[in-house]
Amino acid sequence: MPNKLLLMAAGSHRLRRIVAGSPLTRGVVQRFVAGEVNDEAIAVARRIVDSGMRVTIDHLGEGTTTVEQAAAVRDAYLSLLSAMRMPGMAEVSVKLSALGSALPHNGRRHAYRLTRDICAAAAAADATVTLDMEDHTTVDLTLAVLDELRTEFPWVGVALQACLHRTPADCQRLAYAGSRVRLVKGAYAEPASVAFTRRRQIDEAFDRCLRILMQGQGYPMVATHDPRLIDSAIGLARAGGRSTTDFEVQMLYGIRANEQTRLAGEGYRVRVYLPYGQDWYAYFTRRLAEKPANLLLLARSFKPG
Ligand code: FAD
Repeated sequence: MPNKLLLMAAGSHRLRRIVAGSPLTRGVVQRFVAGEVNDEAIAVARRIVDSGMRVTIDHLGEGTTTVEQAAAVRDAYLSLLSAMRMPGMAEVSVKLSALGSALPHNGRRHAYRLTRDICAAAAAADATVTLDMEDHTTVDLTLAVLDELRTEFPWVGVALQACLHRTPADCQRLAYAGSRVRLVKGAYAEPASVAFTRRRQIDEAFDRCLRILMQGQGYPMVATHDPRLIDSAIGLARAGGRSTTDFEVQMLYGIRANEQTRLAGEGYRVRVYLPYGQDWYAYFTRRLAEKPANLLLLARSFKPG
């Protein structure tokens, strides 16, 4: 499970200033984040696509508290999509909380409308959209928005988190033809009343959900860096008669990059999740929390010489 102290650090403004202010740490941040502006993200995405992989670009930001902030996030996606020229190879990932889902007075409706605008722009750019999943309190809302968006844009995908007790049932419901489901372990510290909290239990749950998705009619997007689960996904896909284009493996930018290249070289569809934007700090600290060795990288970057 993610390191709790580091997850708390994700909310610390003081730490953010220290990390952001130091040119020494910039290299470590750039390992996980594609830059702060469209051009930087598009340049990295282009390199990935030219090397035979796909991308999903995430404009970083969460916890929007005003209508203006939500509109600015929508506009950032619209401007990214209008500049992105990678037909069929790119998608964007969006967080409904960044688009105002938690705003008072019908936040859900608000987030739906703004996400709809993003979907229309994605359609014009021959790109797709996947809804990220946030903490367990947001799952019903996210799935309701997904259902509504899919009536108009049937290619919209969603992430489901294997750690949640409810997820096998959600996988069953979403395993229909044309449905795109990204299966992840889950990045949020969830209570034991709704989620598995031990690594082994989460891995077993991931396997159970994988089976449901691979046996279903939809398009599974297997988002993990865990070599055992990637092997398991490939084995289940083969056993179910799926070709290498009937599912995809997704990994985060900067994590197990050699494995991304190796899988793509073997003919598997690989999509790299590429975050960018000025609001990179919370995302960055979550990546550190998942892998304490990454902290060493950060610590070394503070050392002169
Ligand atoms: P782990 O057991 O954490 O890791 C397996 C191995 O991968 C590790 O042993 C290590 O070798 C390597 N590894 C993992 N993390 C790191 C790291 N930070 N640095 C270096 N090596 C590492 N979560 C959500 O809750 N909602 C989402 O919408 C969502 N979308 C995602 C999209 C993609 C494409 C991916 C890959 C992940 C997403 N996640 C999301 C995060 C996910 O839930 C996990 O927190 C994250 O992927 C780490 O779990 P893991 O499956 O890689 O397994």
